[in-house]
Amino acid sequence: MEAWHPFRILPALDDSNRVFWTSGESGALAIVRCRACGFWIHPPSPICPSCLGRDLTPQPVSGRGTLVSFTVNHQPWIPGFDPPYVIALVELDEQPGLRITSNLVGCAIEKVEIGLPVEILFDEYDGVWIPLFQPTADAFEPGAGEGGGAVGAAADASEEGAP
Ligand SMILES: [Zn+2]
Repeated sequence: MEAWHPFRILPALDDSNRVFWTSGESGALAIVRCRACGFWIHPPSPICPSCLGRDLTPQPVSGRGTLVSFTVNHQPWIPGFDPPYVIALVELDEQPGLRITSNLVGCAIEKVEIGLPVEILFDEYDGVWIPLFQPTADAFEPGAGEGGGAVGAAADASEEGAP
């Protein structure tokens, strides 16, 4: 649908996801949060899964998190979006289990590891602000990412069985 941006498949925006995909314009990702109990909810839901409250509102998050799982894609699934690239599952600092599937950029693939501290950046296409993640400035310094590595598992499926 976006002929001049063939390397991004853009989401279809609707009332439930519009804030998520456009909040990057303000510089921060906004995620729905329960006003009653403070629980962050992603993907968006009309009811808080923690307290069953319905008083929900988008609020900005820090954009910092931890890489909890990743896959290195070597297959040219998307024309113009050249492999290899990293499909990342990031858990945001705001709440255990608050996870976003995205791409990890700005990092050599051989340096990608579970527990890597990451921060958000945005890639804007026609009003859609795609949240991406990159290693924090101190990600590879000693002591960074402490506590990581215990959750999730890397799944470099595309390298298994490669000729
Ligand atoms: Zn709640």
